[in-house]
Amino acid sequence: MIQSPVPVTRFAPSPTGYLHLGHAHSALFAWRSARSAGGRFLLRIEDIDASRCRPEFEAAILEDLAWLGLDWETPVRRQSDHLQDYAAALARLEAQGLLYPCFCSRAEALRAASAPHDADRPALYPGTCRNLPVAERAALRAEGRAFALRLDSEAAAAKTGPLFWTDRRRGRIAADELALGDVVLARKDTPTSYHLAVTVDDALQGVTLVTRGEDLFESTHVHRMLQALLDLPTPEYDHHGLLLGADGKRLAKRDRAVTLRALREAGTTPAETRALAGF
Ligand code: GLU
Repeated sequence: MIQSPVPVTRFAPSPTGYLHLGHAHSALFAWRSARSAGGRFLLRIEDIDASRCRPEFEAAILEDLAWLGLDWETPVRRQSDHLQDYAAALARLEAQGLLYPCFCSRAEALRAASAPHDADRPALYPGTCRNLPVAERAALRAEGRAFALRLDSEAAAAKTGPLFWTDRRRGRIAADELALGDVVLARKDTPTSYHLAVTVDDALQGVTLVTRGEDLFESTHVHRMLQALLDLPTPEYDHHGLLLGADGKRLAKRDRAVTLRALREAGTTPAETRALAGF
């Protein structure tokens, strides 16, 4: 593992709504993890889902974080400006024979995944399109049917062999390459996915410590595998606990009352807001 002498962290929100206290917690966590060790803090706008992202939310993210008292390096990386980086990574995976076209609609994939499964695991795509006969695949393509590209996780795991990563809380973790199954790495309307873009970006931006909520812990198994397949360095990870609302449930964008905007409009100061976010 190549480590720079000081940590480089990032906060990577998607501009699909206003930031809430949960985001503030995550941003402050990343900022403090870097700055308390003399490191660098980056901000990245994860806006590959054009149907859900809006420029006014991006502007609000910058404004709200600055109000909260954070600063970051510029230029800020915006994923939609770098689609060619993800296309290049996708081509490398394709050349290794590790991708297959999946013609299932999102609804079909969800239905297929909702067959009885291990309660501790998320419902996984059962691989319906993994073994489609070549002729059927060709016919569906010729028909112009939309498809997503999925990673053949078993083939990928066979290629990489055992992998490990380090989590600051949980220690050395053996990567479970099958944790999320055959994840989607690109769609027709979005030529990349969260997993691919985040892995490529963290490497290109020289991020050495990925901090994020523990809800994304399982994703790290996938990211570790993509790093191995794409010859990218492996950062250290720190998956932090999630901030819960008064009802004990995790905060979500729909909880409008706890957006940073709403707090500011109600007269809450940045210091009070940081305290509410656990800092
Ligand atoms: N963009 C992701 C989100 O808003 C965070 C990605 C990450 O930190 O890896 O949940």
